Amino acid sequence: MTEKWMQLSEISPHHTTPAMRQYLQAKMESADTLLFFRMGDFYELFFEDALEAASLLNLALTSRDGAEKERRIPMCGVPVRAVDSYLAKLVRLGRSVSICEQMENPKDVKGIVKRQVVRTVTPGTVLEPELLEDGQNNFLAALCANGEEAAAAFADMTTGEFLTVCVSEASGTLFDEIARLTPAEILLPDENQEGLWSEVKKRFPDTALARRPSDEFDPAYGKETLLQYYRLKTLQGLGELALSGPALGCAGAVISYLRETQREGIPQLGLPRHQRPSAYVALDTNTQRNLELTATMHDKSKRGSLLGVLDKTLTGMGERKLRHWILHPLAELEPLKERLDGVNEFFDEITLRLSLREALKGMPDLERLLGRITASAGNARDVKSMGTTLSLLPEILRIAESFQSPLLQDLQSALDPLEDIAYLIETAIADEPPLTLNEGGLIREGYHEELDRLRDLVRGGVNWIAKLQQAERDRTGIAKLKVGYNRVFGYYIEVSRGQAHQVPDDYQRKQTLANAERYITPALKKHEEEILTAQEKMQDLEYEIFITVRNQVAAASERIRKTADALASLDLISSLAEVAATHNYCRPELDLSGEIHIRDGRHPVVEDLNKQGEFVPNDTRLGENGSRMLIMTGPNMAGKSTYLRQVALICLMAQMGSYVPASQARIGLVDRIFTRVGASDNLVRGESTFMVEMIETAAILNSAGENSLLVLDEIGRGTSTYDGISIAWSVAEYIHDTIKARTLFATHYHELTELGDKLEHARNISVAVRDWHDSIVFLYRVVDGGADHSYGIQVAKLAGLPGQVLKRAHKILESLEAGGPATGATESGAQQMFLFAPVEETGPGPLEKELEEVDVDSLTPREAQAFLYHLKHLSNRPRSGT
Ligand code: ADP
Ligand code: MG
Repeated sequence: MTEKWMQLSEISPHHTTPAMRQYLQAKMESADTLLFFRMGDFYELFFEDALEAASLLNLALTSRDGAEKERRIPMCGVPVRAVDSYLAKLVRLGRSVSICEQMENPKDVKGIVKRQVVRTVTPGTVLEPELLEDGQNNFLAALCANGEEAAAAFADMTTGEFLTVCVSEASGTLFDEIARLTPAEILLPDENQEGLWSEVKKRFPDTALARRPSDEFDPAYGKETLLQYYRLKTLQGLGELALSGPALGCAGAVISYLRETQREGIPQLGLPRHQRPSAYVALDTNTQRNLELTATMHDKSKRGSLLGVLDKTLTGMGERKLRHWILHPLAELEPLKERLDGVNEFFDEITLRLSLREALKGMPDLERLLGRITASAGNARDVKSMGTTLSLLPEILRIAESFQSPLLQDLQSALDPLEDIAYLIETAIADEPPLTLNEGGLIREGYHEELDRLRDLVRGGVNWIAKLQQAERDRTGIAKLKVGYNRVFGYYIEVSRGQAHQVPDDYQRKQTLANAERYITPALKKHEEEILTAQEKMQDLEYEIFITVRNQVAAASERIRKTADALASLDLISSLAEVAATHNYCRPELDLSGEIHIRDGRHPVVEDLNKQGEFVPNDTRLGENGSRMLIMTGPNMAGKSTYLRQVALICLMAQMGSYVPASQARIGLVDRIFTRVGASDNLVRGESTFMVEMIETAAILNSAGENSLLVLDEIGRGTSTYDGISIAWSVAEYIHDTIKARTLFATHYHELTELGDKLEHARNISVAVRDWHDSIVFLYRVVDGGADHSYGIQVAKLAGLPGQVLKRAHKILESLEAGGPATGATESGAQQMFLFAPVEETGPGPLEKELEEVDVDSLTPREAQAFLYHLKHLSNRPRSGT
């Protein structure tokens, strides 16, 4: 920081202005945030805040006097009218902002106005629609662990959803739960959780983190907080949550944070729902990413993901629920059958589906509106919008009368007609209310007697002025005399300069213009006061009435939320039926057989994006007749990865209660889906591809069970051929003999087909290709039996490798296949390929040397890992001299 700027810590409260003292006070109450300090039409930032904001927001930095003449206080400001866009930018950058408002009208006070921090906006507590994605929740999360259990609470202030989850700490699955819900901000205790902090930082580098006092995570404190917040006598109604200490602690920490950041406007969350991890199919973070469930791997876009194909929802709340269903497939039969019956009903009853979707089209986001209204941030347009939404309910209820399936009937009974609230809003709120709350125009005529009386008075006032103008013209004989109004002088009588001599004695001159004079009279002033007070009273009263109405709406939040949730489900279920109908999906049969039988399965996304080329459907039989492992071989680009993912996605879709892209499917439920998919380097995290691959494989081998579905694509690809084959081989054996999970195993090493023959419950399959004029054609048809060779050179040809290189590769391949050395095909003996050259010929390489020298016992685990990286680096460098 430059010398000339004064820092916050340097200023002494005793030697400064009263406004600066207010600032220091506000700053104290809002540590770690940027303080927006209201001064008239601007929010000003000072000191370090100003320097940071000026650079983040591209604002001009100015300054004001410090205590010492030569050092100045840096300052910058944003206009109050434009504050939202600046807030948006900062919050997107992960910064939090505290807003300090003027609590009095400067006109009404002598001296300094009262100021107060009214709200802190953080990434997890924004309410501004422009900061939120319609179809995505904005969760604030709190995490903690106690050595045995790890827990998390997630609250979406914008919709009122509140979830908790608790897992055993050793399982490490808490992070998978976090990845499913992708919170915008994570709270962690400030003591004794360094490990957790650094792990979270590493895994979620883009998420805002905040340290909170450990006391706020205390289970007893959490219990108290919940009892008080929900005005409950006991937590028994909350089920398992009441029994989990860490989960209670996290729930309490979330509410404390909302209290602190929202101050007066603390939102009303729904009761927390405790998620039982065993109720859902476990999806680790990699699987969520590899299967591209809600975003593609390469650009994180929704288009190209499963969500992109399945989302035909019509409302933001429907889309949010769809996301939740995709990321939380169910592990139990009963609720799945109910969901499928629901989808089935909309699938068969086309008119029912279309009329419901017609009614939902364009419906505002009831949950988000409610969120703003209960957090006292809703303006009159929000309330009006809610009214509009509620007025659509009778039509939806009418449609819902014909629902047959149990799930749809449940949803029907969850729909509250909310007639009282609809009526209240309809009668109370004006048709097109303004965004501001203190300039009137909010309340409909005829709703409030006193308000109507004041309105008449003000309107009468306008009449009175017209009358006065006429009377004064008659009295003075000045035909062009006018009565007008301006903000500085109030009402006045204006007479042109030429006629000024004709004015009566009771006219008092107030202002002289270029060619007119303005006067006031006592009668005019008296009436002016009456009108102005009436006007002010009217605005105050309107505001008061509006707040009362808004509170009445907020008081019905439980009913409204239940209805909104049912609407979201109806939107989602009908949307799944719509997708099934347009894409020709079938209803899957679900059981506990441990088998997977798919006829004419397709990859939902590839088929959708690949419009011109026909997608070739394929069958899958897994777990049937005891063959629970499929070893899939075939050249690169043949369609192996697509097939593997297709099977995993069909299982996942079936277990979210959706129809699936196949002509027939019978799915024995899975409890976990694990995927380990090709070289998805995580260079950002500084781990080598192979290391990542092995870490992920280890995690799978350590936690998969008999009912899991494993998808292993190109295991061992990240290392040399023989290493790769050996690792792939032993992993397959281990899964086959010990884990016994249903497994799809793809590899371009055709050597592994031997496994399919050798292992009792494994079977070889391959993707058919046709040799054609020394080239290959991909048929995308999955057939029994292994691939006989790798076709690597043919694929290289398709990729456009120069003919000379291809010819040479053919020669080397022939020699290798004949059991000879690669060098046997060498045209000039001097060119040797180091890969196949025996080590003895060249003496110990740098790798061997380093290995010889290191004393393994003296290394710390960290050093050992660093050493491995070092070796890895050496082995990647081309060797010289060979
Ligand atoms: P591999 O994993 O064997 O290298 P991929 O699964 O990545 O091959 O498939 C390569 C390309 O082939 C895909 O991008 C896709 O466009 C196409 N493809 C895969 N399966 C099919 C299919 N069943 N029908 C049509 N095209 C397919
Ligand atoms: Mg592949």
